[in-house]
Amino acid sequence: MANRIDALRKKVDSKEAKKLELDKLERIKKRLEEFSPECETCTNHLNDLEEHLDRLLAKEEITYDNFAELKKMKNELASHLQKTHHLVLEGHNLALYMAIGISIGTALGMTVFDNAAIGTSLGLAMGIAIGAGKDEEAKKKGLML
Ligand SMILES: [Zn+2]
Repeated sequence: MANRIDALRKKVDSKEAKKLELDKLERIKKRLEEFSPECETCTNHLNDLEEHLDRLLAKEEITYDNFAELKKMKNELASHLQKTHHLVLEGHNLALYMAIGISIGTALGMTVFDNAAIGTSLGLAMGIAIGAGKDEEAKKKGLML
């Protein structure tokens, strides 16, 4: 299976490989293999992914539609891993807490400091600190996808 992704990587040029996020696909695939023994959905997803990769590899030329299809599949797999197995996408916490920090900070800034901009930048700084910490925590627990 890792060989299928490697084979695909050889088949496309590096720009396409990047667009397809083959590295991420490989990480997703490893997780599916990890959870397969206890999760039927993962087993099914893994089979679908293998079939799909085989189809792509059998093609003479990989079209835009094929890319779009693979991307859609990758997103579905990632969302199952996030929802069911509580894995975290890299940067997800950072983005989340930045957004929370900005909105809380702005609201506080307007009421407490009478200056929205101060609140926004404080909130942003705190959001980055918390989000980066949460990402780090997920990484340590081996929950980073
Ligand atoms: Zn699963």
